[in-house]
Amino acid sequence: MNNRLRKITIVGGGTAGWMTALILDMVMSRTSAPKDRPRICLIESPNIATVGVGEATVPRMPRTLREAGIAERDFFRETNASFKLGVKFCNWNTDAKGNRIDYVNPFAHGQLLYGLDAAEYFLRFGNGDRDFTA
Ligand SMILES: Cc1cc2nc3c(=O)[nH]c(=O)nc-3n(C[C@H](O)[C@H](O)[C@H](O)COP(=O)(O)OP(=O)(O)OC[C@H]3O[C@@H](n4cnc5c(N)ncnc54)[C@H](O)[C@@H]3O)c2cc1C
Repeated sequence: MNNRLRKITIVGGGTAGWMTALILDMVMSRTSAPKDRPRICLIESPNIATVGVGEATVPRMPRTLREAGIAERDFFRETNASFKLGVKFCNWNTDAKGNRIDYVNPFAHGQLLYGLDAAEYFLRFGNGDRDFTA
């Protein structure tokens, strides 16, 4: 009797499900002929939506896309993606007058300027006495 794996079923068509399908397909297409590969079947629920939040990818993503033969340009267009540089927390706190204020948590800091973090300096003191355009 042939015990070959014939079918892989992935339940859930969110990030985890589709990435799993993509990577399984990539790996199997490298290691076996089409007739020997298990069929991948992905089940999506028509009633339960994905979590649907803005998801930042990890630094390896461009390499994964290249390995899958997907052009980054096409990926951006088809998924309506953008570059995510930080997270904005709306109404996170109040200022001295009690007004609600937002807070942006950046993913990466810029380079130091004359030993100072320009963004933090600017948020705290405005331009102050430093001319960063000089
Ligand atoms: C506010 C917020 C911000 C986040 N930011 C990031 C981020 O920046 N980067 C990051 O990597 N992650 C982020 N995450 C986490 C990320 O969104 C989740 O880890 C990821 O979406 C989980 O993927 P998933 O496929 O498990 O779930 P989902 O993408 O939600 O997909 C679940 C799928 O399962 C299906 N399903 C559910 N029940 C059934 C059923 N009974 N039968 C069949 N199908 C079913 C649904 O229809 C859906 O298609 C964030 C999460 C939140 C809440």
